[in-house]
Amino acid sequence: MAEELEYGPDQDIPYRSMPYGNVTLEGFSRAAMQTYWRIPEYRIGFDLGAQPWCFMGTPIWCLSHTHLDHCAALPAYLARRRMMKMPPPTVFLPEPSVELVQRMLRMWSRLDSGGLPCDLQGVVPGDEIPLSRELVLTVHETFHTIPSVGYVLWDRRNKLRDEYIGLPQDQIRDLRLSGVEITREVRKPVVAYLGDSRPEGLDENPIMYDAELLIMETTFVSPFHRVEKIHKHGHIHLDDVVQRQDRFHNRRIIASHFTLRSTCHEIERCVRRALPDLLGDRFVPWL
Ligand SMILES: [Zn+2]
Repeated sequence: MAEELEYGPDQDIPYRSMPYGNVTLEGFSRAAMQTYWRIPEYRIGFDLGAQPWCFMGTPIWCLSHTHLDHCAALPAYLARRRMMKMPPPTVFLPEPSVELVQRMLRMWSRLDSGGLPCDLQGVVPGDEIPLSRELVLTVHETFHTIPSVGYVLWDRRNKLRDEYIGLPQDQIRDLRLSGVEITREVRKPVVAYLGDSRPEGLDENPIMYDAELLIMETTFVSPFHRVEKIHKHGHIHLDDVVQRQDRFHNRRIIASHFTLRSTCHEIERCVRRALPDLLGDRFVPWL
């Protein structure tokens, strides 16, 4: 395997990186082609339409739905981790899809004559999953053509309760030792991942508008693509973003999953025309 490990990024599957605060967003997403994202510092990724070799080290993946451009790399990812003697990863996916994915993995395991160990966990909207002391994942309803979910990643900290702020350290320690609950949990939504959805995926989960970083689809941008048809296929048009522009409180909005029916140049032109200041330079078309 050493040979493959020596491959440089120029030989890897393409992805783009964006430093963001203390973390990095890495990924690629075009509709029907492939979608994959990860934030290495949080050890979490979203969707596995393909898998750059270096993404293998990320041990937690959240699948939004089972269209192939979002999950085709799952067996290869599991096989690579097994080959590299890494611990089995955790993969979250919509509960209604679990059984079929398990069957698919059993087939691939036979075809590949090797195990595909992983902790496959079905999720439903409303689920809340602690990932570590600092990170919690919540699951949200989205609106696509097959079972689908979105995810929000929260940073959680224990903060001293207001009534104890300003007390001397030894008194705080005594209170804690006597069993008094001196802290409360404070949560901050750091990343929201919409996956594929009609705009209701945002509207019905307003927390997505508040997350620091929102990764959303904007599959269609051209005025020649009809909005009603796009909604019927479970997708978002740039016009939907324009209509809701005051609702986005995010520090960055990553617009992605653009259709291959528009060229990168056309996409940039349509976005610039619809949102001339890119929502105060917060709206980032991921091309
Ligand atoms: Zn899809």
